[in-house]
Amino acid sequence: MANTHIETKVLQEGYKPENGQPRILPIYQSTTYQYESSEFLGQLFDLTADGHMYTRISNPTTACVEQKLAAMEGGVGAMLTSSGQAASLMAVFNIASAGDNIVSSSTIYGGTLNLFAVTMKRMGIETRFITPEMSAEEMDALFDDRTRLVFGETIANPALTVLDIEAYAELAHRHGVPLIVDNTFATPVLCRPFEFGADIVTHSTTKYLDGHASVVGGCIIDSGNFNWNNGKYPELCEPDESYHGVRYTEQFGKAAYITKARVQLMRDFGCTPNPIGMFLLNNNIESLAVRMDRHCENALKVAQMLEADERISWVNYPMLPSNPDHALAKKYLPKGASGVVSFGVKGGREAATRFMDSLKMAAIVVHVADARTSVLHPASTTHRQLTDQQLVDAGIGPDLVRMSVGIEHIDDIIADIKQALDQIGG
Ligand SMILES: *Cc1c(COP(=O)(O)O)cnc(C)c1O
Repeated sequence: MANTHIETKVLQEGYKPENGQPRILPIYQSTTYQYESSEFLGQLFDLTADGHMYTRISNPTTACVEQKLAAMEGGVGAMLTSSGQAASLMAVFNIASAGDNIVSSSTIYGGTLNLFAVTMKRMGIETRFITPEMSAEEMDALFDDRTRLVFGETIANPALTVLDIEAYAELAHRHGVPLIVDNTFATPVLCRPFEFGADIVTHSTTKYLDGHASVVGGCIIDSGNFNWNNGKYPELCEPDESYHGVRYTEQFGKAAYITKARVQLMRDFGCTPNPIGMFLLNNNIESLAVRMDRHCENALKVAQMLEADERISWVNYPMLPSNPDHALAKKYLPKGASGVVSFGVKGGREAATRFMDSLKMAAIVVHVADARTSVLHPASTTHRQLTDQQLVDAGIGPDLVRMSVGIEHIDDIIADIKQALDQIGG
C-alpha cells in the first residue's frame, strides 16, 4: 500500500477495521485504560510494551488519525496536538533549549513569529531570521555551534511566498541540523516536503485538513530521515533522566524524535487534542483531496479575474505567471497553491473595507482555509495596531484584502466579488 495515491490515503489509511468491527473510526472518549496486571502497566511505563496509558499521552481514536497523517506525508510517525501553535512550540522545543538558537524564514505566520521572536526568546532560545533579500553568505553566517534547526512555511501565511524547500534542506543539512516545514497551507495533497529533503513537518490542522472551521488542532510528523547521532543532539542520544534513562535513538531508531516529543514534551506540557475533535478531523480529512483540487481551481480563476479588473491594483497568487515565486510554485506545487489569494483594491483602506462590507456570500471571519469563501482585512483587524506606514513596511498595505476562496460554484463566487466591486465606486 506504500505507493497508493494521496486521494486513496486520505480515505484508506489510519483506522483499519477487522472482521465485524465498526466501519467508522470509533470515538474512544476515555481518559484512562484498564489492565490485567500491574506488570504489564510497568512495561508500558518502561516503553517496552505497546499500548495506551493515559489520554494526555495517547488515545486510540487520536492514534488512528496520527497514522493517517503520517502516511499522507510519508513519515514514520505523527503526534497530534491541541492547536497548530502547540505543534510549532513542541516541534522546536523538542530539540532546542535555553542558550540555543534557531534559523527561520522571516515570512511566516504571525502567531509563529510571536512565538519565536518574543516567547521563545524569554525561554532563552534566540531566532535568527532569513529575509528574502539575504545572500548565501549572509545565510551561512546565521549558523553557529548552538544552532539546532531551520524553519520555514511551504506557502507562507499571509505573504504567500513559496519556500525553496530543496535549498533550505541543503542549507540546514550542510550545517548539521534538520529542516522543519510548516505545511499548513499546502497540505500533503499539494506538496509533501519530505520528498524535497525536509526532516520534520508541522501543521495547523485547523486550516484545510479540517477545512470546515470546526476543530482547532495541530500535528507534528517525523520523516525518520535525520541522523541525530551527529554529536549535536544529546537529548535524543544520551539517557533521559526524566524517563528512567531511555536513549531515544537507541530504543526507537527512526522514530526517536517523535517518540521523545510524545513521552517527554506531551507528558510535561499536556497540549493534548480531544478524541471527539480528532474524530471530526478524521472525517473531514477524508474529503481533503477533492476539496484541495476545487480550492486551487477556484482560487486561480478568482486571481485571473481580479488581475484583469481595472479596479484592482495588484494580485498575489503564486500560480499567476506575474508572481515572483511562480517558478518555485510550479516546482513544489504542481497541482496549485491552495485557495488563499491576496489583492489590493484601488482607493486604499476605504475602498477595501467598502468592498468587503459589500460582499453578500463571502463572510468576514478571522480564519482561512475553510470550505466557504471568506475574507479578512488585516489592516483593520489582525494588524490594526499598526500605522499605515508600518503596514506598508510589514508588506500588509492598507488596501490588502486576503480572500480564502472556498469550494462553492465558481460563478457564484465571481458574481459576489463583481457586485461588491461595483459598490466601491458609488
Ligand atoms: C493558523 C496557523 C498556525 C497556528 O495554528 P492554530 O491551529 O491556529 O494554533 C500555524 N501555522 C500556520 C501557517 C497557520 O496558518
